[in-house]
Amino acid sequence: MKRAMGALALGVMLALTFLSGALAGSFDADDSVLRLVNKEHKIAAKYQPDLVKPNVPTNRKDQAEYVYMRPVAAQALENLFAAAKEQGYTLLAVSGYRSYQTQKANYDRKVKKSGARQTTVAPPGASEHQLGLAMDLVCDSYRYLNTKPLMETKEFQWLYENCYKYGFAVRYQPGWIKITGFSTEAWHFRYLGVAHASALTWLNVPYETYVEKAQLLPEYVIQRGNAYLLYGLINNALNGDGAVFQEMRDLPAASTEEMKRNIQSMTARFLPEGVTLEMALYNKVP
Ligand SMILES: [Zn+2]
Repeated sequence: MKRAMGALALGVMLALTFLSGALAGSFDADDSVLRLVNKEHKIAAKYQPDLVKPNVPTNRKDQAEYVYMRPVAAQALENLFAAAKEQGYTLLAVSGYRSYQTQKANYDRKVKKSGARQTTVAPPGASEHQLGLAMDLVCDSYRYLNTKPLMETKEFQWLYENCYKYGFAVRYQPGWIKITGFSTEAWHFRYLGVAHASALTWLNVPYETYVEKAQLLPEYVIQRGNAYLLYGLINNALNGDGAVFQEMRDLPAASTEEMKRNIQSMTARFLPEGVTLEMALYNKVP
């Protein structure tokens, strides 16, 4: 019996790996801030976002040419750097947007050196960097892309506790390789907006696991849901009985008014102590 259960769990785990199959709406469109990208969900080779250069310090001068992002993410990155600075921490940008062709060149080089089974450099189309929504960061006290020493810096300890407030999530964490397909990368931050980055960070799961449930929600909840609502619903789906999650899916939402009401009434159920409905609706996260 025990072995059968183990085999079943393994089967479920394998089935969930990379979240194979078609994705819904916001998680599938290349120009969506929520686009899920991995080895199973690649971006079109021709996709190129609008880009700007965020006004932030880089590790080396020559890297300034490689830190472009989509405007919404660039603005959020500037806010994140400014907040870090206020605490006395200097963050440094290393690598932002990468085209399909650049990623292909990086990948080919890596495979030539380390073989096809390497899990550090993404194949072309499978890198979040092509979205213009990811940035690799280091900091003043440690300037290399090495997970352990980076995570020990005070800058990164602050980053890990605060980046979601600015819309960023840590995408590749220890123990997640079976689901994400990539080794741990302490330096890789993905912009998702405050609501989803917060919910994802509080749940402490890979984005693949999050999207598997989130994509079942109505599109208006995904677009307009706040951090508390998204966290509450997806937590209920992943760790609870799924009843509230199902209730949200079943609520009639024929008009904008109805959608607004649904979001308010459901959010009210998930308010942590000290957070008012108004704070929640404006994504004022602690
Ligand atoms: Zn990266």
